[in-house]
Amino acid sequence: MDTFEYNANPARVIFGNGTLQRLPDELARLKLSAPLLLSTPQQVDQANALKDVLAGKIAGLFTEATMHTPTSVTEKALAYAKEAGADCVVSIGGGSTIGLGKAISVRTGLPHVCIPTTYAGSEMTPILGETADGRKTTRTDPKILPGTVIYDVDLTMSLPAGLSATSGVNAIAHAVEALYAKNTNPIISLLALEGISALTSSLPAIVEDPLSVPARQKALYGAWLCGTCLGSVGMALHHKLCHALGGSFNLPHAETHTIVLPHALAYNAPAIPDVMERLGAAFGGGDAVKGVNVLLAKLKVKRGLREYGMKEEDIDRAAEIAVSNPYYNPRPVEKEKIRELIRRAWAGEEAR
Ligand code: NAD
Repeated sequence: MDTFEYNANPARVIFGNGTLQRLPDELARLKLSAPLLLSTPQQVDQANALKDVLAGKIAGLFTEATMHTPTSVTEKALAYAKEAGADCVVSIGGGSTIGLGKAISVRTGLPHVCIPTTYAGSEMTPILGETADGRKTTRTDPKILPGTVIYDVDLTMSLPAGLSATSGVNAIAHAVEALYAKNTNPIISLLALEGISALTSSLPAIVEDPLSVPARQKALYGAWLCGTCLGSVGMALHHKLCHALGGSFNLPHAETHTIVLPHALAYNAPAIPDVMERLGAAFGGGDAVKGVNVLLAKLKVKRGLREYGMKEEDIDRAAEIAVSNPYYNPRPVEKEKIRELIRRAWAGEEAR
């Protein structure tokens, strides 16, 4: 076995159905009494349900969380948190709302309790992406990691089938890249394979029946494991490509991950034969790239970036950005080959 290092991130996790009811006890345990609740405008109902669970004992409710965590929104929320005398933040939502919680927490030192409602995995990471003047920057700091994460399967029942599918593949992508990360290790590999296998079996069941409780339970469990992978080890080509595409061409986050994943994996395949074998098994047996293609077909997701408004003339610039700053990848990153990868993803051609 190769030499490795393993660092566990210190997060406390509460998982199950109806676990939202545990929030008052959790805040009491932490000796916190004035939470500022955070949500997007689309999830005000869930934020109000949270207020009811706390019997109205909150510092305030801020419902303007926005995609890409713009610093202008963070500043507004910070002023509100101060005025309301909040002693902690509780975010209920997907990566966008959790991002706002992280942005407030890292600036103020306020504890952050996270209640995730998608499968994106941000709740398990010490990573924060923020946007200022149209530019997205990402930083990593142990202080960014939320202290408690409450996974309540009931809250995911309303996640639309399409978003469940793409958000779930976003989670799978974290685990795929964790398997060939520069600093991968046996524990993270176990979590990655288990996470991929849980999502590969549950996501098609959710698309068939979004109200299936066993499928929702398994998907959220898989998402937790995959999020842990993202929070523990470095990512490579796939995440670099998605960051470049999302940041520069305003493409939607989870949908971009979904389209790019089979192409990035096909590119890296020749350099990672052992990983491809283990991945093939996790995707249900056989070739791993084929396994992703089959999964995406079952999920009935869009396969071309052009369907989200990316223009053909943007391909060159995307390739340029993707190969700019050198970064770790198991296969050397060659511009012409990356251009062809992006072209295929743009056109919606099958990965190979
Ligand atoms: P999102 O948070 O943007 O949510 C998408 C939409 O779905 C929103 O309108 C939201 O209110 C709604 N929604 C979420 N859960 C719902 C539910 N259960 N029922 C009904 N509607 C629901 O989407 P996302 O994919 O979770 O997050 C994407 C963002 O998170 C991106 O900005 C990405 O960069 C970031 N992210 C960060 C990390 C990290 O580690 N820092 C990891 C993953 C994603």
